[in-house]
Amino acid sequence: MPASRLLLSPPALAGGELDSLRATLESGWVAPAGPAPAAFEAALAEVTGFPSVLATTSGTAALHLGYRVLGVAPGDEVWAPTLTFVATVAPAVQMGAVPRFLDATGPGGTLDPGLLAEELARAARRGRLPRAVVPVDLYGQCCDLDGIVAACEPWGVPVLSDSAAAMGSRGRGGQHAGRGARLAAFSFNGNKIVTTGGGGALAGDDPALIARARALAGQAREPAAHYQHETTGYAYGLSSVLAAVGLAQLPSLAERVARRRAIFAAYAEGLGDLPGLSFLAEPNWGRSNRWLSVVLIEPAAFGADREAVRRALDAAGVETRPAWKPLHLQPAFRDAPLVGGEVAAVLFERGLCLPSGSAMTAADQARVIEVVRSCARR
Ligand SMILES: *Cc1c(COP(=O)(O)O)cnc(C)c1O
Repeated sequence: MPASRLLLSPPALAGGELDSLRATLESGWVAPAGPAPAAFEAALAEVTGFPSVLATTSGTAALHLGYRVLGVAPGDEVWAPTLTFVATVAPAVQMGAVPRFLDATGPGGTLDPGLLAEELARAARRGRLPRAVVPVDLYGQCCDLDGIVAACEPWGVPVLSDSAAAMGSRGRGGQHAGRGARLAAFSFNGNKIVTTGGGGALAGDDPALIARARALAGQAREPAAHYQHETTGYAYGLSSVLAAVGLAQLPSLAERVARRRAIFAAYAEGLGDLPGLSFLAEPNWGRSNRWLSVVLIEPAAFGADREAVRRALDAAGVETRPAWKPLHLQPAFRDAPLVGGEVAAVLFERGLCLPSGSAMTAADQARVIEVVRSCARR
């Protein structure tokens, strides 16, 4: 029996966290204000290339603020790929918006700009364009953001990129994930490639939009000596304590991307010869951070289905997770309008996320490969 359970994507410390925390605590600034959040935001601007960044309590909070500043109102449609995490659309739904889910026919299972362009033209004919389009960088793999932005431009529909899992990923032209969208949301949850222990960021080109999000994140207080509110906001500012952790993590981002890409390469090397097993494709442009390595198992050729492989790994002490269950198949969204969905459903049926943590050892990985190989038809 293996000594310890191998987790999917546990947080990994960079080494400087304690010093960074001590400096922040000793400075007396522990609120969601002060030098640490500001320094974290500046570091994020540097890494992503976005001039304006707001650090938030989570990626979901960043998405919520994005929806707010884009003016999402009850009855508005917001469009997202169906193959994603619930948080992509949850805040918009809670605001009374109607999600419309599009299939995963684009590069690497992401939103397809061609399909989007067709559907936008159709929506314009219906006289009901979406308030926002929200593409997702799937498991860190950049969507074709240039194509998506180009599809939205003629209709004046803003793009809010859910780049929550894509810190350190590069899209076309070497641009950071999310770059080119009106707004992009990032996550520093414990399972992401770099973490604050829980946090996120909203980034954009327009300083006025981010300033608006910043005001909303701080309870929408108007500049007055007393508490004055023209609208209501949220308590979404990232604490200085957590920003200090993020500041210690961020310098290791490039190393972590290299590490996760090496983990993917080792899976490809160790499993790539098996019939019926393939990997979520990386398009020939861009460079994924390979947040999670995803294998696709075609049961007839492989000799076992994804669930059998998942159970075998679980019994061997290895945590895995099926690919996102498409949102159009979730009871919570049973009434949401849908475009296609068959490709996403197959990716869910066949997709399995393998352990991909930055601190995983070669021996850990050999164990995973051995169990997967033992499931294959021989
Ligand atoms: C992690 C994640 C989120 C949510 O981020 P939190 O910081 O956990 O709120 C949203 N979308 C995607 C695609 C994610 O992977």
